[in-house]
Amino acid sequence: MTTTKLPEALQASLLQWYHAHRRKLPWREDPQPWHVMLSELMCQQTRIATVLPYYDRFLERWPTVQDFAAAPEEQVMSAWAGLGYYRRARNLHAAAKEAAARGGIPSTKAELLELPGIGPYTAGAIASIAFGEPVAAVDGNVERVLTRLHGYADNPRRAAGKRWLEARALELTGPGVAGDVTQALMELGATACSPRNPSCGACPWSEHCDAARMEDPSSLPALPARRKPVLTPMVAGVCRDDDVVFLARRAPGLFGGLWEPPCEPVSQGESPEDALRRVFRERLGRRIEVGRRVGEVRHQLTHRDLRVQVFEVTVQPTRRPPSAEGYVEQGYHGATKDLGLSRLAEKVLHLTDEAPPLWVAAAPATT
Ligand code: SF4
Repeated sequence: MTTTKLPEALQASLLQWYHAHRRKLPWREDPQPWHVMLSELMCQQTRIATVLPYYDRFLERWPTVQDFAAAPEEQVMSAWAGLGYYRRARNLHAAAKEAAARGGIPSTKAELLELPGIGPYTAGAIASIAFGEPVAAVDGNVERVLTRLHGYADNPRRAAGKRWLEARALELTGPGVAGDVTQALMELGATACSPRNPSCGACPWSEHCDAARMEDPSSLPALPARRKPVLTPMVAGVCRDDDVVFLARRAPGLFGGLWEPPCEPVSQGESPEDALRRVFRERLGRRIEVGRRVGEVRHQLTHRDLRVQVFEVTVQPTRRPPSAEGYVEQGYHGATKDLGLSRLAEKVLHLTDEAPPLWVAAAPATT
């Protein structure tokens, strides 16, 4: 590992590169705290091109954090539908409510960490970009850039690695440049220092970087191999009645708050048809007749590979259960664009769709 990395020189070349090459993004042009908070939550694990239309729509509908805090959860989930990783929407909403109750978004990393659903990275990003506090904000991009620059060969996600990363990020920042340093580090990781094929020739740190002199710079960071997603057999039942379809809204948990044609895992030893009858009976208090199998939908989550057998069903309008588990509302719905549908639910509906205009998909999503 080389030792001639002067933080002042690294900061200067990083900022020079950032000002020459940064992408113009709406939250960078007007980095108000609410804009930064919204963009940070939306951009986690999601491509910027996917985020942009959602960001614009959210700000048009909820121009301030107070407006957003006052929105009903169902509207929030519906507006987020298609963006994936729905826990972020609930975290954003919970954090906005707390911030609004405190009179606005807090200005320091320490106070931001007190908001529900806001972790060290997001708190550091908001504090530095919106308020200029010289604090560290280490996400996957920054982790990649800094471990490569310094040739850090240990796992950076262990406690010692996190402390090391925080210290390296902190020595690069300072008063007056905190927001730019945070964004420049992220930008470098998102563009030149990509996970598989870093463009070291286009990087402001190529002369200082230990990984650039390695045979394979992409071998850093040294992360443990990812576990393969677990194959999860599931079943979904779609009941159409003219131009409406039977949908149920999920309770908190996976896809919580979103609407779907009921869709659940198949238990071991159970047939898909029996699983469907069980789900409708136990969770929705409905009897069903299972019709033809329409096909299979595949949907990949971070830890699960969902394989969903899709059936047509006829729902009997029997009773509603005294305490349905897993779902909080149910009923027949027409146009779905105002309902929050998960990307999985959209795929299931498309598979059984004979009237495409009713089921226009939302924007591309990651989940
Ligand atoms: S020189 Fe290459 S490996 Fe090093 S930080 Fe720049 S892009 Fe990443």
